[in-house]
Amino acid sequence: MSEPTVILGAGLAGLSASYHLGHDRCVVFEKNHYLGGHIHTEVVDGFTWDEGPHLSFTKYDYVKELFADSVEQEYLEYPVATGNYFQGHWIPHPAQSNLYAVPEPLRSACLRDFHASRGAAPDAAPDDYRDWLHRAFGATFADTFPAAYTRKYWTLPPERLTTDWVGERVYYPSVEDVAEGAKGPLPEQTHYIKKIRYPKRGGYMAYARKIAAGANVQFHHEVTHVSFRDRTVLFTNGTKVSFERLVSTLPLPTLIERSDAPMPVREAAAALNCSSLLIVNVTADHPTARPENWIYVYDEDKHTTRINCTEMLSPENAPTGKTGIQVEVYYSKDRPLAEAPRDVAAKVCDELVEMGVVHGHESIESVDAKWVPFANVIFDHDRRAALRTVLDWLETQGMAPDDDDLAPTTDWDAKLASASATGQHIVLAGRYAQWKYYWTDDCVMRGVELAKRFGGDG
Ligand SMILES: Cc1cc2nc3c(=O)[nH]c(=O)nc-3n(C[C@H](O)[C@H](O)[C@H](O)COP(=O)(O)OP(=O)(O)OC[C@H]3O[C@@H](n4cnc5c(N)ncnc54)[C@H](O)[C@@H]3O)c2cc1C
Repeated sequence: MSEPTVILGAGLAGLSASYHLGHDRCVVFEKNHYLGGHIHTEVVDGFTWDEGPHLSFTKYDYVKELFADSVEQEYLEYPVATGNYFQGHWIPHPAQSNLYAVPEPLRSACLRDFHASRGAAPDAAPDDYRDWLHRAFGATFADTFPAAYTRKYWTLPPERLTTDWVGERVYYPSVEDVAEGAKGPLPEQTHYIKKIRYPKRGGYMAYARKIAAGANVQFHHEVTHVSFRDRTVLFTNGTKVSFERLVSTLPLPTLIERSDAPMPVREAAAALNCSSLLIVNVTADHPTARPENWIYVYDEDKHTTRINCTEMLSPENAPTGKTGIQVEVYYSKDRPLAEAPRDVAAKVCDELVEMGVVHGHESIESVDAKWVPFANVIFDHDRRAALRTVLDWLETQGMAPDDDDLAPTTDWDAKLASASATGQHIVLAGRYAQWKYYWTDDCVMRGVELAKRFGGDG
């Protein structure tokens, strides 16, 4: 038998690579004592918590079937109900086509600017996300809603972001939708995700059951040094392994920092920008107070950025009659966490009471906060050049190049159609390793593609 492929990280990308290459041909090294990375699910006092809201909205039938098989077809499928909170007002999502719920005189100003923006027809592409927002929505709406949310979610003003990641993620409304939506609710919702699937029980992690079964995972193995020159990996527990082929799913800045990369490459990797997330889980002694699956909060004087209730994902996620509210608060090197997490959590509780998501402080039964160092890759203007420098160096070390390696997303149908065998022995896989806007289905599909390139069981 040939040397096993060494896979770093047992998140979805690492597990998918192992499953599709063949578990008997791979060994996976994971720093934690559990599988799943960002899709790990915890059950605490009868509440099921994912690491931030996770739902499957994949368009790939292969992933749909894999996930469905993992939970023996026991999944829920429902349309998403998303909401927006703005200065005491509840606005259905997307707000741009539900202006009827925006208070006056703001509503009329949004409408006026929207029509003005569609009248102007610029011939050049937008310079940045702020420019894109202004052209798509007009100045008033852009500055009041998405620009404010961008500062909270992406932790940067929109002019510091590119537009290559936007795709269908931000709904670009038609003139008719905006005009009609200013009078009253549209007959059909216009969110970019229409139907989602979520495991009936076990949280999102249940979707990884099939690909995780039989994986050779070595837990408590935190990578401390990768020598690309010697083809060895050293772990904090003192173990050292050699590799013929390496698949890394570690965050790219971590991989490079803990390797024999030269200084300019290390500096480029350090320049890659990512948000961190403080998750605040709050339980209360009453049923869900709001009908939405998740809620965007625009007020910049609030820490709360996005809210979901775990029992709205699946009723099995919480004891009957109780609500498990998960709040996301974002940070980055541009907005460092300057308070103790418990102080942020206390303010989040105040905000939940103010917004009416919790009936009162006396209803709160527990509060917990969890820090997630890598949350969302930030698509700022420096990303492409920094990523290019890092990837060019890795190619000199034997990394297989990708034709879309700087693009934020991947078209898997096109990629699989062109995937062919490669002799290179280093591969990056997953959201943080490839530094992309990858969802869970992308992490699965990367494993499918690797098997096509290297040969595998999948
Ligand atoms: C808040 C939030 C909400 C999301 N919602 C959705 C959603 O609704 N739908 C969806 O499809 N996707 C969603 N995603 C994206 C999804 O979580 C990721 O695309 C996916 O889980 C990434 O998997 P990965 O294997 O690439 O990375 P990871 O899950 O990060 O796996 C990497 C693994 O490497 C391990 N590791 C790290 N450093 C070391 C080291 N030094 N040594 C050894 N091991 C190490 C980690 O512990 C981890 O297990 C969301 C992401 C976030 C942050």
